[in-house]
This record gives sequence, C-alpha cells and structure tokens, in this order.
Amino acid sequence: MTSGAARVSAFAGLLDQPLSRYIPGNAPTATVKLLEKDLGITTVGGLLDYAPRRYIRRGHLQLLSDLIAGERTSFVARVESSSTRRMQRDPRRSLTDVLVSDGTGASLKITFFNAYTAQKELPVGTHALFTGKPELYRGYLSMTGADYAVVDTPDSVTDFTSQSGEVYPIPVYPERGKLTTPRITRAVQQLLLTADLDSLTDPIPQHILERETLVGLAQAYRDLHRPESVDAFQAVQERFRYQEAFVLQTELARRRHEHASQPVAERPARADGLLSRYDAALPFTLTDGQQAVGEQIRAELAGTAPMNRLLQGDVGSGKTVVALRAMLQIVDTGGQAAMLAPTEVLAQQHYDKIVTSLGPLARPDQLDGDPDGTKVVLLTGSLPTAAKRVALLDIASGAAGIVVGTHALIQEKVQFADLGLAVVDEQHRFGVEQRDALRDKAGHTPHTLVMTATPIPRTVAMTVFGDLDVSTLRELPGGRRPIHTHVVGLAEHGPAWERRVWALAGEHISRGRQVYVVAPKIGDDAALPPFDSLRGSLLAAQEAGDDGDGPEPATVQWLERLISAQPELRDARIAVLHGRQDPLVKSETMNRFAAGEIDVLISTTVIEVGVDVANASLMIMVDPERFGISQLHQLRGRIGRGEHESTCLLVTRSDPEHPGRERLAAVAATTDGFELAEVDLRLRREGNILGASQSGRKSGLRWISALRDEALVARAREDAEAVIAEDPHLARHTELLAAIGRVVDENSQAFLERG
Ligand code: ADP
Ligand code: MG
Repeated sequence: MTSGAARVSAFAGLLDQPLSRYIPGNAPTATVKLLEKDLGITTVGGLLDYAPRRYIRRGHLQLLSDLIAGERTSFVARVESSSTRRMQRDPRRSLTDVLVSDGTGASLKITFFNAYTAQKELPVGTHALFTGKPELYRGYLSMTGADYAVVDTPDSVTDFTSQSGEVYPIPVYPERGKLTTPRITRAVQQLLLTADLDSLTDPIPQHILERETLVGLAQAYRDLHRPESVDAFQAVQERFRYQEAFVLQTELARRRHEHASQPVAERPARADGLLSRYDAALPFTLTDGQQAVGEQIRAELAGTAPMNRLLQGDVGSGKTVVALRAMLQIVDTGGQAAMLAPTEVLAQQHYDKIVTSLGPLARPDQLDGDPDGTKVVLLTGSLPTAAKRVALLDIASGAAGIVVGTHALIQEKVQFADLGLAVVDEQHRFGVEQRDALRDKAGHTPHTLVMTATPIPRTVAMTVFGDLDVSTLRELPGGRRPIHTHVVGLAEHGPAWERRVWALAGEHISRGRQVYVVAPKIGDDAALPPFDSLRGSLLAAQEAGDDGDGPEPATVQWLERLISAQPELRDARIAVLHGRQDPLVKSETMNRFAAGEIDVLISTTVIEVGVDVANASLMIMVDPERFGISQLHQLRGRIGRGEHESTCLLVTRSDPEHPGRERLAAVAATTDGFELAEVDLRLRREGNILGASQSGRKSGLRWISALRDEALVARAREDAEAVIAEDPHLARHTELLAAIGRVVDENSQAFLERG
C-alpha cells in the first residue's frame, strides 16, 4: 500500500511544523511536552485540530452556585479579593487566597500554593477560566489549587474580550491528565498569535468552498478556538465536517483508482462451463437481487480491473449462491477461487454445502463424477497432517479449483497455482492483514468479494468501507417462512411463562422440529447456585444468584441441567456447543444437529454466523439483553431457514425498565436487518459505529455523524471522485494530499481498510 504519508513530507507546510517552534517560553514548553506525551500532538496542525468539547459563556456557564464537592469542573469567575499569608506549618512558604464570584451571589475561595504567581496573575477584578475540584470544608466549598487562564486582560495571550468589553465564549477542551483546559487554552492562544494562519492553503478547492458556502481554513481555526459568538461555531462545524468527509473520500477514491489500474487477466463467463451447468441444475430460481448482483459480478470478472465488492444481505438472503457462481466463473477460465470463513465450523459447512450443491461437478476424479468438474478442497488448522498435505498439493497444482478454509489458508504454507478470486465470508471477523495476506499469496491482486450479514448504514458504508463497491440483497428467497419473535419477560410474568417456554420447546420437538437455546456464557460451576432439579428455574436462580450487581447470566452448562430436568423434554436429545470445546467435537455436534440427531442444541454465540439447519424452528435466547441488536438479529437468522413457521423467544429476567429491553423490543418488532441497523445506530453511541478511538484523535472521524451526514458524505464522495479522475496522484492538489497524510496515519490505514 503506497501511503500518502511518505510523499506528503515533501510538502510539509505550517500545519506539519513542530509545535515547539511556535510555543516558546518555559511553562509552555512543559505543555508542549505534555501534549506530545498525553495526546500525541506534536505539530501545529495537531493542536489546531484539537477541538474544544464545548464552550462556556458568562451567564451560561457552570455557575458557582451549582458546583458539586468532589467534581472537577471549569468555570469563569471574577477575582473579588486576594491575600497572601505565611503557611503556619512552614513559615518560609506562602499561600495566596483568592475569592472569586460569578455574579450569581455565590463565591468560592481558592487557595494557591504558588503564591506569588497567583498574586501577580490574578489581581482583583480579573476574569479567569478556572479548572479544579471543589471540596467541602467546614460546610463551605473551597478549592486548593486550580488551573486558570486569564480571559480578559487586554494584552494577555488569552484575550477573550471584544472591543466593547464583552467576554467571548471560552473553549473547554477534552482534558487528559495534567492537560487541563487552561493549560491547553494558553498553548492554543499562543499558537494563534505566533502562527500565520493566513498563509495556509485550503485543501478544499475554491469552487467547492463557494458551492457549500464554507468558511476558509484560517477563519475556521480562529473561530474554533476563539469564536466571537457561539453562532460562529456552527459555521466551523460545517466546514470541518465537509473537510473531514472530503479528505477521507479523496483517499478512498485514490485507492479505488489505484486498485482499478492494476490490470488482471480477463475472466469472462463461458457458455458451456461449470457455471452454466450449475445454473441449469439449480433447484430454485435466483431472486431478482441475486440475478442483478450476479450480472454485475459476471461483468466485473470479465474486465481487466480487479473487483473489490462488498455483498451485504441479511442472513439467508442467498449470498453464498452468489459467491459460488462467481467462483465457478473463475474456475471456468482456469483459475482458482478461495473462500475464507471465520471459524472451522463455518468452513466445514461451506465446504459441505458447496460439494453438495455442485454434485458430480465436485468429483472430477471419481467414477460417478463429472470429468469436467473441479476439485473442492477444505483446508483448516485441525485437518490431519496427511490430509493437509494432499490439500496443499491440490492447491499448488491447480487441481483444486475451489478452496474453502479458515485462517489456515493464510497461515500455512499455501501456494496457489492461480488465485483469481478471494471470497471473504462475514468480513467483520476478518482483519485487513488477512485480506492482504491472501492478496499477497496470489502474487497479484485477485478479485475480492466480501460478504457480510451485518447490514451497514449507507454513511458508514461510504465512510468505513469506502474503498469497496457495495451490493445489497434486500429480499429473502421465496418459500421462507416468517419468524415470530416475542419478548418473554419473566420479571413481570413469573414462573408460569418460564414453564410455557420449555413446554413450547417440547411441542416443536414432538412435531419433529429442532430447537436452539442460546446463553450468554459457557459457565463454570462456581458462577451460579448449585442446580436444584426440584426448584430449578431461571427465576429461582436469579434470586439466589443476585448479589446486588444483578443476576449472573445464564450459562450453557447450567441450562443443560435445567432443560434436562423439564418434564416436557425428558426424552429430548440434548447437546451443548461452545468455544471451549475441541474443534472436532464442535463440528461433530454441528453435523449431528444438522442430521437431526440432536433435538435441543444449547450453545453460546458460536452458532451466530452462517450455520444453516432448515429443520430448526424455535430459538430460545436466555438473558438476551446481554447481546447487541445485530448479534440478536444474526442469532435469530439461524431459524426460519426452512419451510417451517419459526418462533424466536427472547427470555429475559431483566426488569421491564432495563435499558436492554429497548433493543429486545426492536428485534421483536421487525426482521428487517436494515431497519435494525438504523435503530442500533440510534441507540448506540455513534462513535462506536464509526470505530473512532476514544479520543477520536487517530481516526480523524470527529466531525461526521453517521445519522446526520449521509447527504454531505455523498456530495464529498462525488467531489472527491471528480478530483481523482482529473488528478489521480493529487500532483496539483498538494494541500489535499498533505491533509490526507495528516489524517491517514498508520493506525487509520488499518481503520480505513477494516473490512
Ligand atoms: P446467506 O449466505 O446469505 O445467509 P445462503 O446463501 O446460505 O444465505 O442461503 C440460505 C438458504 O437459502 C440456503 O439453503 C440456500 O440454498 C437457499 N437459497 C439461496 N438462494 C435461493 C433462492 N433464490 N431460492 C430459494 N432458496 C435459495
Ligand atoms: Mg452465509
């Protein structure tokens, strides 16, 4: 990956200059060191981009009368009196007591140990921004030591007063360790005095600034750190929002362009190949969505630019069929296709399904096979050595047209004869390094098809997955039955409903169906009260197990005993599945469940992804408030995969007021994954979705909101594409290139490509 960063240094301008050059002096030097140590900020641009968390205005600030003992706070107040006295215990040292007030009638005494500095800097009548922690002492609030920045002395660097003597809004910065708001304020204000912001060239082209009516860069930085009014911040926000979207989209467009200009062999579909024979034998007709995406992929594989496509579709929407058809087109041209699955269970399942659906076409070297077919090979870490050797040979010789595997595909010494397509299933479990490693194996850029069942809202798709083209399968194949989802609130309905849950499981089993039970934890025996088969119930365990921090979550091990003790399930064949089991045990259990030899499968979320047992018609999730919306939705997708009407019970012991109930209600209300993704976005903090780090510093995504800014991101993406089309290497957009270099450091490289 050619990162922008290396090339950028040649254009290092003001924003890339070291801070130390612009913040001279003693105390500021300490601040510069802290900025580097605590926030990783070393450059002019880094500090200018450090946005205030909020602003305070006189009259609108944290009032002195509202201060709370023990809580750190920032406020602006006027010095009413100041006196210096000797310390009783150590008469060589002095203290300065400053009494401040804010016009609300309340006042606060602040005692400074650096007596002479405080005495000098905080004369009576001074307005200053103070940050500190008030404590209660003899019934009065007082404060020992406070950081402060004087805000209204005309010649101070922190001059927040207008000509008319009015105090401007004062920024409050996100604080870290010793880096308090006053300290940061002083550094920033100093920087604003010494750095010539007007010499900056704007990374946003002039015509876009005009069309979007955005303020210029210098003005934006000034208004960000020293706004004359709170309204100015509005314009600042709009500008940086657009800039953030535009810079990121330009980098993504640059990557798409770079990617597209690495030619690959044309792999057109053949009329008489495996693909057409597979299509002819398909037991169903493709949905319109499958058809459309199929056409798109067919054309892309036939072209000379590598495909880089994200295929999203709800669980069961038929993504695997789409992927297999793409793989067959590659095999038809003499190439190989690999499918990467996140777990051994899934790799095994994909392998089985592919072999089954290809029938004789997957057995070219066998008597009952089709000599024109291709070998399908499974490669996982737990494969016995001898079998692994055979698989590796088939992959290296090209005899295996289709290779299904886990990480082993990347980690082992796998050599492909001609890897033309990499299909990555359930990308959210896959790191970028792994995708890259697969690319490296091919010796060239193979086509890439990434499949995900977690619907991604459009803004996020454009932002986080912006280097991929996105296709969506919106409908489910016909003939599938709806899933009825109910929240079973044991807290409000009591033990009768709990018994009804297990009775319902018995009914499904007596009709020949199968049941999933999902628990949040595997369990160790110490975590829950010993199981008492006479009085055993979820509710009873809740009461016994609640030590004040809420109940222990239900475990697989505990549920196994509870379920075995239910009269309605006396004859049921019960098995457990979880991540601590040996992979061989796991896949054997899954195979037995798939073969109908197990009636009730009690598991953790290991069954979350991709597992496909059409006969399972009931899912019972215990303590489901422990799961997120998308996880609940994914889990539920394990049922409703056959012709049977299916039911999903969200069995919760939580209080009806529990915040998790909102998620459960949402999941019960719809099976549309896209709708749920939007709800999720609303209920969760957006930062988590965009993957921004806590400080928001590394990711560069500080301004865009996934919910609000979809249209803006779309405009920025178009603008970015126009720029790249006309100047692919940004040779004539050096400021933009530099801006990319500042945002896209090594961490966010991974962030951008996460997927
Ligand atoms: P996904 O990978 O998107 O979860 P799958 O490809 O595993 O979905 O498909 C789910 C089930 O639906 C599979 O059993 C598959 O054979 C079946 N299926 C796929 N496409 C169709 C279709 N067009 N009509 C009927 N059944 C289909
Ligand atoms: Mg799947």
